[in-house]
Amino acid sequence: MHIPFCPYKCAYCDFVAVGGGPRVAAWHGPYLAALRREAAHWRARLNPVPPSSVFYGGGTPTALGAAALAALHRDLMRCFGAVSGAEVSVECNPGTVDAQGMAELAAAGVGRVSIGLQASQDHLLSALGRHHGWSDFTAAYAAARAAGLDVNVDLMYGLPGQDLEAWRSTLDQVLALRPDHISAYGLQVEDGTPLGRGVASGAVRPPDEETVARQFEAARSVLGAAGYEHYEISNFALPAHRCRHNLVYWDNGDYLGLGVGAHSHWRGERWANTPKLAVYRDTTARLDGGWVAEREPPDPARARSEGAFLGLRLLEGIDLDAYALRYGMTLDDAFPGVAADLGRRGLCERRSGRLRLCPGAVAIANRAFAAFI
Ligand code: SF4
Repeated sequence: MHIPFCPYKCAYCDFVAVGGGPRVAAWHGPYLAALRREAAHWRARLNPVPPSSVFYGGGTPTALGAAALAALHRDLMRCFGAVSGAEVSVECNPGTVDAQGMAELAAAGVGRVSIGLQASQDHLLSALGRHHGWSDFTAAYAAARAAGLDVNVDLMYGLPGQDLEAWRSTLDQVLALRPDHISAYGLQVEDGTPLGRGVASGAVRPPDEETVARQFEAARSVLGAAGYEHYEISNFALPAHRCRHNLVYWDNGDYLGLGVGAHSHWRGERWANTPKLAVYRDTTARLDGGWVAEREPPDPARARSEGAFLGLRLLEGIDLDAYALRYGMTLDDAFPGVAADLGRRGLCERRSGRLRLCPGAVAIANRAFAAFI
């Protein structure tokens, strides 16, 4: 469920998200009504099994207010049916939900929050255009724990002004809290964002490639030593706390995405919703399906490619027997000579019936993915 509202827009953000102000707040009600209409449409059209995981992302879903979000979740579970033990996650940013809000979310069936911290140093957050500090994060973290919620913490490395020492300090401060899950992404500088313009003009300088590579390796060693499994390129979890929802994506499974800019993958077909709020509101009111902006019909060759490069994101790699059963062809028949070539180049290795990234190639995994596209 994509909730495209944020209290403000971060300097690096090119997601489908609109930041703050009364004009944006006036969209909340119409948007929630549109989401409910889209949900009812797909429920009637696809008759899906009840979801085993639900993820409210954005944007900042908690910008809607916890009560509105909890009501939405209850309605959606009435629409699709709820599976006992389903993983239900909500993304939030520090300062957008208090202890009472966390308790409301937990009472509605949310079991996990993903808190966007990014860095523990307030001056680095400020340079990213984020309006919260470390103390706002610790307050949100404590509120989530008091409500009995599992917690993921989102972090970023490769930030302007962030040296290796600052990154290690962020890792140490977060580890002291012992979250269940940590995501660590390298900053992507996108054209058209304030950060992109700053970098293009030379006013802002991200760290060099070598520093970024050392930051990634530091995350792997520090988090690994603290007992976190590095299970996907950018994701680390305490045992039994992998994100089940995101595993569906990497397993190339079926999912239904609702809201502006949301993507779906259903029985081999892919589609993407319009990123435009007004188009989404109007087309869901007419129930004419016009909110789907792009559609790719099922394509066995594309599915085999996706099964390979998405599966390689997981550090345990691809189960080659399961791949052959699912896609009707072995990986070697689908991509003749590719796995052997990746092996020669030191990017992938075969072990115990699986193909996986070599430990030294995780930071340059895109080179391996490219061979399957
Ligand atoms: S909180 Fe996330 S989605 Fe919202 S503006 Fe910042 S980066 Fe974009």
